[in-house]
Amino acid sequence: MDPADEAQPVAAPGRDLFAKFDPLIAEREALLSTGVRDPFGLVMEKVLSPTRAIIRGKETILLGTYNYMGMTFDPDVIAAGKKALDDYGSGTTGSRVLNGTYQGHRECEEALKEFYGTDHAMVFSTGYQANLGLMSTIAGKEDYIILDADSHASIYDGCFLGDAQIVRFRHNNVDDLARRLARLPAEAGKLVVLEGVYSMLGDIAPLKAMVEVAKRHGAMVVVDEAHGMGFFGAHGRGVFEEAEVEDQVEFVVGTFSKSVGTVGGFVVSNHPKFEVLRLVCRPYVFTASLPPSVVATAATSIRKLMHAEEKRAHLWKNSRRLHLGLRELGFTLATPEAQSAIIAVLLADQETTVRMWQALLEAGLYVNMARPPATPTGTFLLRCSLCASHTDEEVGQIIEMFAGAGRATGVIG
Ligand code: PMP
Repeated sequence: MDPADEAQPVAAPGRDLFAKFDPLIAEREALLSTGVRDPFGLVMEKVLSPTRAIIRGKETILLGTYNYMGMTFDPDVIAAGKKALDDYGSGTTGSRVLNGTYQGHRECEEALKEFYGTDHAMVFSTGYQANLGLMSTIAGKEDYIILDADSHASIYDGCFLGDAQIVRFRHNNVDDLARRLARLPAEAGKLVVLEGVYSMLGDIAPLKAMVEVAKRHGAMVVVDEAHGMGFFGAHGRGVFEEAEVEDQVEFVVGTFSKSVGTVGGFVVSNHPKFEVLRLVCRPYVFTASLPPSVVATAATSIRKLMHAEEKRAHLWKNSRRLHLGLRELGFTLATPEAQSAIIAVLLADQETTVRMWQALLEAGLYVNMARPPATPTGTFLLRCSLCASHTDEEVGQIIEMFAGAGRATGVIG
């Protein structure tokens, strides 16, 4: 017998690695024991259209999907996906830099370049990875990333993955951004990270003023347009287009999981050295590329979004009408007017938020429930995201459902 095979003494078990989650487990059990349903465990049993699904056996209006332009059931988008599935198979089984770049990935990048009018476009497997990749790669040890305190988790995680020094400024506060930039060494590399629309409250960034401040301090600028693509600006490029700062923004990050209606992420840029990122960006290199059906649906959708003026106008009409309707009912909203396609209804605490969420679901309306850490500290809210496919009649029904649920839960009088 090989002495190496002899039984080794078994060490006592180390600390329970799950112990740190005990408070969360207890909080969740306490909540569910009151009879409420799990707001984070919902299943769409059947999806009928961009605005309707069967949930718990009941036909439900969807008002929490980010499917802003209703592209998920577009017949051309679906046909493109089916054809790619037939022609190229179900997946690439490889990284973009090895066997994972098909004709469709290139075509998708061409569609993005056309949509944004840029020289370069790089498609990632998700928007999360696009932010992870850009933040961790572009700024190094001696550099600074200056970001809004309410930035999306993918931006924060990208910062944690990289080596740059992180400076946060108060949400949407131009003066605080200027103050913090002024304290940094003049010669240091600087990247200011902004979002066109902030998804928790649905407010938009004062991009013109912020980009002006960033440029005054010699910083590069990235704008995440995840929630602005499709319906802001003359071409639907996002808030940065509407703010007329296109020529001063070095990078735009986006996702296919919202207005485009599928999954995937991207960065577009005019920077002459941009293509080197394909070699050094780990979340691009060390993961499999998107399936051919996904890039085909994305490319088709992006090309259709270039000519979606009617949908854009209808989406804005829906958003303004819902904001006004909820305000008139007496709900507390995060923004004084509809600034985007997200309307956030602020509530007092977690219990009220869950009760209101459940009352809406029982009435046949699905909205997102959001709580810290996704939201700013102490903020509990129900987030409504409008879709260009919501009909006038549906928006009317939605307002009525809010009225009923609000009165039943005592949120409004
Ligand atoms: N950026 C922002 C601002 C987002 O809200 C999200 C997703 N909610 C992402 C990036 C990540 O997008 P994806 O779903 O494609 O990973």
